Order: sequence, then C-alpha cells, then structure tokens
Amino acid sequence: MSDCIFCRIVEGDIPSTMVHEDDESLAFEDLNPQAPVHVLVIPKRHIVSLADAQEADLSLLGRLMLTCSHVAKQKGLDESGYRVVTNIGRNAGQTVFHLHLHILGGRGFQWPPG
Ligand code: AMP
Ligand code: ZN
Repeated sequence: MSDCIFCRIVEGDIPSTMVHEDDESLAFEDLNPQAPVHVLVIPKRHIVSLADAQEADLSLLGRLMLTCSHVAKQKGLDESGYRVVTNIGRNAGQTVFHLHLHILGGRGFQWPPG
C-alpha cells in the first residue's frame, strides 16, 4: 500500500534505522522515542491492526512476538525488563494503521498505563 508509511519503509521508499529483518518481519527505531529504547516490530505484509489478523496469520503473529524477544535481547533489555505494546484503534491512540508492536525499555513504566 503506497499510502501506508510502514509499507513504504518495507519497500525502502522511506528511510528507517533498521535493527532486524527476516522474511516476514522488520524492526526499526521509532522516530519519536518514548523511552531510551523504542523499537517497532512490523509484519512486512500490510495488516491494519491486531483486530484485522486472521487465523491464517497465526504463525506470522508468533514470528512478530519472537522478533520482539530477539530485538529486546539484542538491545540488552532482557535482564532489566521491557514492555511490548500494540495499539488498536481510536481509544488506544493508534496513529499508523499498519500492525506494529512497540518494544519499550531502558526505564521503568507505570501500570496501569495512561
Ligand atoms: P501508534 O500510535 O501505536 O500507531 O504508533 C505509531 C508509531 O510510529 C509512533 O510511535 C510514531 O513515532 C512512529 N512513527 C511514525 N512514523 C514513523 C517513521 N517514519 N519511522 C519510524 N517511526 C515512525
Ligand atoms: Zn502498510
């Protein structure tokens, strides 16, 4: 989808600071980091949000979760801990409508989230 920012990152039309790539997923630094470590993990294929994922996406969703774990280790967060978040729709504040998992780390976080 050429009007989707994250599809354009996958296609290499928009620059990003890549931290991981495999056949199905990509991880890159968030442009507006909310923590010392803030990485986004996305499927290369356009899916609007978790709410749009299908049964056929089962292994892709597992891949995305494992990519989060892999990137967090790569960033040295596995001992201190970190948060993985995905925003879905208006109430959650989703602004980019291509499924993405936020990996946030390097500081403490509140619970419940704001
Ligand atoms: P969300 O609010 O969950 O939809 O998150 C979208 C995230 O994408 C925000 O944290 C933005 O800072 C981030 N973002 C938007 N455009 C870019 C970009 N070109 N490169 C990296 N991150 C981006
Ligand atoms: Zn997209």
